[in-house]
Amino acid sequence: IDASLLAQTAAHTPAHTPAMDAFWMPFTASRQFKSAPRLLAKAKDMHFWTPEGRQILDGIAGLWCVNAGHARPKIVEAVQKQVAELDYAPPFNMAHPKSFELAERLIQITPAGLNRVFFTNSGSESVDTALKMAVAYHRARGQGTRTRFIGRERGYHGVNFGGISVGGIVGNRKTFGPMLTGVDHLRHTYDPARNGYSRGVPLHGGPELAEDLERIVALHDASTIAAVIVEPVAGSTGVVLPPEGYLQRLREICDKHGILLIFDEVITGFGRLGAPFGATRFGVTPDLMTTAKGISNGTVPMGAVFARQAIHETLTNVDSAPHVIEFAHGYTYSGHPLACAAALATLDTYAEEGLLTRGAELESYFADALHALKGLPHVIDIRNIGLVGAVELAPLAGLPGKRAFDVFLQCFDLGVLVRTTGDTIAMSPPLIISKAQIDQLVGTLADVLKRG
Ligand code: PLP
Repeated sequence: IDASLLAQTAAHTPAHTPAMDAFWMPFTASRQFKSAPRLLAKAKDMHFWTPEGRQILDGIAGLWCVNAGHARPKIVEAVQKQVAELDYAPPFNMAHPKSFELAERLIQITPAGLNRVFFTNSGSESVDTALKMAVAYHRARGQGTRTRFIGRERGYHGVNFGGISVGGIVGNRKTFGPMLTGVDHLRHTYDPARNGYSRGVPLHGGPELAEDLERIVALHDASTIAAVIVEPVAGSTGVVLPPEGYLQRLREICDKHGILLIFDEVITGFGRLGAPFGATRFGVTPDLMTTAKGISNGTVPMGAVFARQAIHETLTNVDSAPHVIEFAHGYTYSGHPLACAAALATLDTYAEEGLLTRGAELESYFADALHALKGLPHVIDIRNIGLVGAVELAPLAGLPGKRAFDVFLQCFDLGVLVRTTGDTIAMSPPLIISKAQIDQLVGTLADVLKRG
């Protein structure tokens, strides 16, 4: 373990105890973590506090999810009330009123046409649900040969087998052996040579990169392809934006060949890009849209897949006897009462405070702050849209990811939480952030980068 990393966090953190051994941590450099743990004990609005009472500015909305800020009273009360009233209701062949109410409320903010909602508990489950819907839809229409999926290099679609198969992050795939068969990948859209330091959407190369899809269709024939899945803005790979015209062209090619288009909006949904969804922001409506995170403000796990009505109808208007289940898929906790209560209160909060479009109001202020980091040591690119931004650093020779990880540790020491992926620092603060807090977030990062 790298001694310098240990020393950086040691100042503020409790020592490792044997009681920490049992917890197998997700996506964590656990040897580093357990030797200098970073614990969070409390949260409110824009901040976390450590067990020792140190205040941390949340620069990443928890994990791109706490879009309305932490412990908002309306959401807290709704969950408390719900747990006392109806703690659980079975979702198979039964339901509770709030699941219907929530679905109805959600389709009022989705792009027109996406008006059927299937509840899950996470982004990964939403992705695998959407992939299954796509295949089932084609099969129900007598096109059972359409089983192939097209993902994209550097795409992140969660960690279930469907999601890592269509995903394109090497580190998440290489350990797990064979995946879904019949998956191809489009090229990623990161092109710093032509689009470096773009403010907002990059200008160059969009339609041309989307033509990859035509090449894949030509190779396999459209009759074998079920769906294309992309994140409108790729988040977990380090905030990679779609160049101008890219998503529109994907939509056109999918339409031409009868291929379903899936947008994975687990990060981009619920205001992150300054509009309710990426689909809204870019004016391109997919056939299926996966969400999670901001749907319930991160308070209770929840995800949802939005489908065009025609997909729902194809899969539910069937000839079988009425007692037969039409779509054999669902989770014990689909539409859990606590998640529904949290999500309803979250939607109220978003509406009352105009949060689903606040990212648009703050976009240029945030962009100015971020792009002022250009020229600081090791900075090689800066990207932004809405209230998400990324600063890419030159990797240390032979140690990819270490430079950004060091920066993350130093920011945490200075009371600011950012996120790293590879050598990119990502920021996606709660949508309630003030301009002064944007200054603190980006200013702290600047202070750390200036150390060189
Ligand atoms: N899809 C996208 C685009 C994501 O960004 C994520 C998580 O960051 C997921 C899927 C997986 O979500 P979860 O971690 O809730 O399974």
